[in-house]
Parts: sequence; C-alpha cells; structure tokens
Amino acid sequence: MNRQEQIGKLQAAKEFDICVIGGGATGAGIALDATLRGLKVILIDKSDFAGQTSSKSTKLIHGGVRYLEQAVKKLDWEQYKMVRKSLRERETLLKNAPHLSRPLALITPCFNFFEGIYYTIGMKMYEWISGSQSIAKSQWLSKKETLDLIPELKSKRLSSGVLYYDGQLDDARYCLAIVQSAEANGAVVLNHLQALKFNKNEDNGRLKSLNTKDLISGNDYSINAKVFVNATGPFADSIRQMANSKLRPRIKVSRGAHVVLSREVMKGETAILVPKTDDGRVIFMIPWQDQVLIGTTDEADELSENPKLEDYEKTYLLEYVNRYFEKTVMPDQIKSGFAGLRPLLQAQLQSAMNSDTKSLVRDHEVEIDRRSKLVSIMGGKWTTYRLMAKDTLDEIYKEVLKKEIVKCTSEHEVLYGGEDYRYEDWQEFVNKYGISAWTAQNLMKKYGNNALKIMQLTEKQIELKDLLVPNHPFIKAEVLYVIQEEMAASVDDVLERRLGLKIRNEAASRSVEPYVQEILGRS
Ligand SMILES: Cc1cc2nc3c(=O)[nH]c(=O)nc-3n(C[C@H](O)[C@H](O)[C@H](O)COP(=O)(O)OP(=O)(O)OC[C@H]3O[C@@H](n4cnc5c(N)ncnc54)[C@H](O)[C@@H]3O)c2cc1C
Repeated sequence: MNRQEQIGKLQAAKEFDICVIGGGATGAGIALDATLRGLKVILIDKSDFAGQTSSKSTKLIHGGVRYLEQAVKKLDWEQYKMVRKSLRERETLLKNAPHLSRPLALITPCFNFFEGIYYTIGMKMYEWISGSQSIAKSQWLSKKETLDLIPELKSKRLSSGVLYYDGQLDDARYCLAIVQSAEANGAVVLNHLQALKFNKNEDNGRLKSLNTKDLISGNDYSINAKVFVNATGPFADSIRQMANSKLRPRIKVSRGAHVVLSREVMKGETAILVPKTDDGRVIFMIPWQDQVLIGTTDEADELSENPKLEDYEKTYLLEYVNRYFEKTVMPDQIKSGFAGLRPLLQAQLQSAMNSDTKSLVRDHEVEIDRRSKLVSIMGGKWTTYRLMAKDTLDEIYKEVLKKEIVKCTSEHEVLYGGEDYRYEDWQEFVNKYGISAWTAQNLMKKYGNNALKIMQLTEKQIELKDLLVPNHPFIKAEVLYVIQEEMAASVDDVLERRLGLKIRNEAASRSVEPYVQEILGRS
C-alpha cells in the first residue's frame, strides 16, 4: 500500500459506489465487505487506520462475561443474544487472522466458597452459549492450581479460581490487516485525509460529493460517491450534522484507561479477570506480548482526539494490581499507558429524531438519514466489527441502492498476512538471516507472511538488521517497511500502531523518534 498511489487512484476515479468515512475497525470492516461484494469503494480516515478508539481497546475478542451476568440478572433477552453473537464471532476473528490473534486463558480469583460456585456456574454458561465455537472447557481450580498458573497472586485470602477462555487481538495491526485486505481486493484507502464538507443535490438534499483535505500535503480532494457511510465511532455526530444539521446528537463517549507494566509483575500466559471493583467495574490484567496490560476504567467524558492517560487513572488501576499481587508494584514500574473513548449510543433519543432508524441489535445501529441518505453505523465493539459491516451493507442494498442484497462473504476472508500462516517459519529467519529468535517471532506475530519481505530488505542493507532500540525485539528494517508498504506517515503511525513500541515502553519509543522522523523525511 502506497499513499501516493492511492491518491492517484482517488484522482482518477469519477465516482465511487461507497465512500466510507472513518478507518477504525468499523469502517475498515465495511470497506472490506463492500469490496468483496463487488462495489467500488474508498475508505478515508483523518488520522491513521485505527488511529482512535480501535487501537485503544483492551484487545479482547469476547462476548463479555459482565454482559452475560447483566443479561441473566435482568432477564434481558437482547443482551443475551448480543453475547451469543459475539461469542460466535470470536471464532471467526481468531480464524481469519491467526498471526494477529490467539486464544487467551483467564482466571477469576475467588475469595470464598460461594464465589467459587457462582463464577463456575457463570463461566460454564458462557462456555455453553458459545456452543461448538467454545475455545476450551472452563474449569474450577483449587487454590494450589490457581497459584500454579499465576504464582504472583496474593495467596493469603485466595480460596480458589475459575479458569475460562476468550480471545486476544493486536487491535491496531488487526485493523490495518482489514484495510490491507480491502485494498488488495480493489478499495482505495487513505489515512490522514479529513472529511470536511458534503455537497448536496439542491432539489432533494441528497449527498453527492465530499470535500476532503490531505493533512500530510495540504492538498484538497473531492470525492463523488453514490453512498456515504459514516463510521467515525465517537465522532459520528459531527459527520451526521455535517450531512443534516437537523439531526440530534446520538453518541455519548465513555472513557477507558489502561496502564502497561513490565512482565516481571506476571510472568505466565494466564490473564486475570477482576469481576467486580468497589465501583462495580471489571478489570483485566492480561499478558500482552512482552508486557502486562491492566484495564480498564469506565466513566463519562468529553469528545476529544487522543485522550491522555491521567495520574488518577494510574493510581486507580495500580491500587487493584496491588490488591491482587504479592509484590507491591510502584508507579515507576508503569512503562506506558493509553486511554480511549467508547462510542455509546443514546437509544432514548431514537424516537425524537428525524430519520429512519433501523435497530439491528441493541449493541449497534444503522441509521439512514431520510433527507441526505447518509448511512451512519454507531455503537458496537471490536469483536462484532464484521457483523456491523454486514448489517450496514445489507441495509445499504435494501434502503439506499434499492437492489437485491449481494451475499456477504467476509466470514471466510483470511486477512492480509494470514494466508497459509506458519508461525514456526520464524526458525528459518534465524537460520538464514542470523537474527535473534525473539526478533524473528515478533516479526511473524506482527506481519504474518509478510515478515519475509522485511527480511529481504536487510539483504541489500545489512545494518537494517540492527535493533531499533536495546531490550526490544524490533529491527530498523521494520521502520522502512511500514513507511514504504503500510502507509505509515507520522511518527505515531510507525511507533504506536505499526510496531507497537510506544505502548510497550514510552521512554524507549521517545528515544527513537528522531530516527523515525529522519526516515519519514527521506521517504
Ligand atoms: C477503553 C476501551 C476498551 C475496549 N475494549 C474492547 C475489547 O476488549 N473488545 C472489544 O470487542 N471492544 C472493545 N472496545 C470497543 C472497541 O474498541 C470500539 O467499539 C471500536 O474500536 C470502535 O471502532 P470504530 O471504528 O467505530 O471507531 P474508531 O476506532 O474511533 O474509528 C473512527 C475513525 O473515524 C475517524 N474520523 C473521525 N472524524 C473524521 C473525519 N472528519 N474525516 C475522516 N475520518 C474521521 C477517526 O480518525 C477514527 O480513526 C473498547 C473500547 C474502549 C474505549
């Protein structure tokens, strides 16, 4: 994927069938699905692919144990159906990008006999709902078995544990792989291209083109399309009001923060679910590549880009870490952290709106504005991105294009880098190129089959095999590759989302910013 080439394709195109605004999980999923159904598609994002919420998640592919608990307690059938759909979708996400996702074992520590029974029943039900797509059997564990898996836990009050399974994904790179697959199937994809203003048919108010600005070059481009899709997550209201100023706001954002600690804190591969904090939240403590990810919080916030992790959030999350772990973790052991905004739908405003609203499932909703015909997809979660895309496209065929629905095939589309993926190939890189096993394994997990292309860059320039920074597996060739092949156009595109160094260790990431800036300048 090359930015200049994509700009050329945008300029050459007279009209697209669909212009998708927003290159997070939702928009990327729509672009891929639409392309697979034979439509001519352009996908744009004003920051980077997964530049906002889609790279700030807890990185779980899950039905949501907490949602199931709520569904049972409130006898809420819609909530139950949502958990079931997500659990079934979990298998598809794991299967379609084996390099970027994996099953994850989690333990809920229990502090008395009744908690042990309560969570065993809950997790059995969670496993039962996933049916044939269950990852592995959930299980009650004795205190000793629990400590064997997570020896760092405080043992004094521990009574037992309940083991269950979900999935984990590399959210930023997973989103990129969806974009790359869309592009490989014919979509035009552009990051750092901001939607600024719609132009409408004067007689009926229907959208006909979009003015955009390239935030890298400063150039303006106009995009003509039959259908405009608003997949801007937390920013959805701004695009809705750009299309029709009479539409009332629908989105509320809820802020979630994470801290990243080094692996000394928790060395094994099993995560912890804290099922109930003092204020009724859920916190996960998850092995995440070479770190431990702790999160998340959940509180109302104002809409902003790239919200910063606050000190009170670090204190809150560390307090829970220290309740569960024998060894006290100090604030200076925090290596990194990030916060994101959940795009939550305000369903109660639905009836007051001047639009045809199709409520497809409680979790997400496709809205088609009666006047402008803007299609907005709102709410949802990472795990259901593909279903959200499917629902959006089906509605577009029915309500906007007024055509028979072309069948969705994304369920079987293995994503870029995942075709015939063989993790064991890392060994060949070690043998042939003399790099460390750590680097070779990291390359396989981040780039899948394309890892070979990175090694080939080092054949001409041997110094590209050098580590980018000590104590981390990344090599210099990766910086060049992600700029040349993955449309990374800013320091954060490279270090935060393509390599992921910034979310492992902020200080290490800062130290290589000048190097990355220099390579970007030369490209
Ligand atoms: C803290 C936290 C933890 C979470 N954990 C999980 C989890 O573990 N599992 C799970 O399934 N879900 C999780 N979620 C939910 C999930 O991350 C989100 O539902 C999902 O990422 C939303 O994706 P999106 O594409 O709708 O929005 P976004 O990722 O925010 O994408 C919207 C895009 O639109 C772009 N945009 C905005 N305005 C414009 C414009 N004018 N022109 C062009 N582009 C524009 C933005 O730059 C942005 O990239 C979590 C969310 C949060 C906040």
